[in-house]
Amino acid sequence: MSVGFGFDLHRLVAGRRLVLGGVEIPHERGLLGHSDGDVAVHALIDALLAAAGEPDIGSRFPDSDPAYRGISSDVLLAKVMDDLRPKWAVVNADVTIVAEEPQIAPHREKIRSKLAERLGTDRITVKGKTAEGIGPVGAKEAIEAFAVVQMEPRR
Ligand code: MG
Repeated sequence: MSVGFGFDLHRLVAGRRLVLGGVEIPHERGLLGHSDGDVAVHALIDALLAAAGEPDIGSRFPDSDPAYRGISSDVLLAKVMDDLRPKWAVVNADVTIVAEEPQIAPHREKIRSKLAERLGTDRITVKGKTAEGIGPVGAKEAIEAFAVVQMEPRR
């Protein structure tokens, strides 16, 4: 077994779509980023790459590369899974999204099933938390996400 952890944070700004865990969520602001700014998928990709003993998302998809400008993070996740799948099977993954708003709960199952499809296992858990009004996340200036992945080598 191999375990990986990932973290990410993006600024919440006007004039952007909000995409979390590959799912577009109606909201008046979205996450700033070179890609679509999907913090949940970015944290998950870092956890997957770490479990595989590979360099992080920034090394793999540099934000200096115009090829990744505005790209859907779901596409990046699919690429990473295509690379990992021959050698690794995901056992389970757990993703926590910390957002003061919008509420994650109404979208949780849609995000969960989307990530389950990508990772090839139904053992995916997604949780939404708030920051209790404290810090940049609590002030609605950012959304952050944490992810843990467990994988096993294919024989
Ligand atoms: Mg990111």
